[in-house]
Amino acid sequence: MKQVFTGIAELHTPRERLEQAAFAVQDGRFVWVGAEADLPEEYRGWPRTDLGGRGVLPGLVDAHTHLVYGGNRLDEYLKRARGERYEAILAAGGGIYATVRATGAASEDELYEEARARAQLFLAQGVTALEIKSGYGLLPEAELKMLRVIRRLGETLPQRVFPTLLAHVVPGGWEREEYVAMFTAELIPEVARSGLAQAVDVFCDPGAFTLEETRRILEAALSHGLKVKLHAEQIAHTGATRLAAELGALSADHLEQSTPQDWQALAASGTIGTVLPGAAVILRKPFPKARAMWDAGVRVAIATDHNPGSSPLYSPWLAMQLTMSLGRLSAEEALFAHTENAALALGRANLGRIAVGSRADFVVVDSTSALMPLYQWGHTPIHSTYVGGRRVFRAASPGSLP
Ligand SMILES: [Zn+2]
Repeated sequence: MKQVFTGIAELHTPRERLEQAAFAVQDGRFVWVGAEADLPEEYRGWPRTDLGGRGVLPGLVDAHTHLVYGGNRLDEYLKRARGERYEAILAAGGGIYATVRATGAASEDELYEEARARAQLFLAQGVTALEIKSGYGLLPEAELKMLRVIRRLGETLPQRVFPTLLAHVVPGGWEREEYVAMFTAELIPEVARSGLAQAVDVFCDPGAFTLEETRRILEAALSHGLKVKLHAEQIAHTGATRLAAELGALSADHLEQSTPQDWQALAASGTIGTVLPGAAVILRKPFPKARAMWDAGVRVAIATDHNPGSSPLYSPWLAMQLTMSLGRLSAEEALFAHTENAALALGRANLGRIAVGSRADFVVVDSTSALMPLYQWGHTPIHSTYVGGRRVFRAASPGSLP
């Protein structure tokens, strides 16, 4: 399939900003990007799509979501808003355990349909690739059930889906040692063999897994050829970020309690530092120091951490806006963090960029200004979303161009 896209008032690649731009797409990849006036002769005869003088951005990449779950935790959200602590709710059997029960009670079809509806809301905001974690099953069969739902999403959603097996908490009735042994000796080999996950993630924090347990789980994952990533330094400082750097993890995520030494380790290893603004703000925790991390040489990514408890966040744009205001990134840096750097957090250098050789995933903004969605809080002017050069979403009633 060959196609040329023109009528782009402003393009952020995100490395560069171009005006009056155009690009050519062949077989789902960008083969030329530049000023429309410079469109080479060889592409002039290709079928054209005029984007109407709008802004265009790379498709957003959400590299950290828990999109598959049963039920919701509105009750807990209201309690926390009244000042109850999450740790107390968790200790009383709520929190993650409430979602584990609701997810266990739901059928695979129900989990699939609910997650598909959520993914559609993300598509409408320009998210063209997303990671989805298991972790609300805990027991082997229940984790595999979640991963099968994620695989089905990957087969049917317009977006690219990256499945991750998450070691979330030790289930009730299990000895810690017994659970870690099962996870490393049975679940990880089974997941690797069946191809149900590309990466393994561990929630390394008080109440979840210790640093030593985390190391054992991640080393087992690496030995089976899976990539690794971490929930690191969210509630307490555990050393998980430096472990991520040491093991060559794709990313260390959260980082609310991370230190300058942690940032040096990330910068030196190339492990992405992913900030999750939703969880930090909703749980009223310190906001990750995105500016200082960026300046220390960390490749910073932003993700929604969409989940029913700590981050019922449906907007990557709000995640970027919060990181601009509270994490002190510029708009261009926030965009970079939710596109190119987020793609690297998935291990995919060919996503999140509008550049020759990259997958032709992009968002058409319903404005002449490509960064308008970062300026407008609470209203996201998206015109359409493309994956592999194919339009997979179009707003029902796009507004007139401001
Ligand atoms: Zn998470």
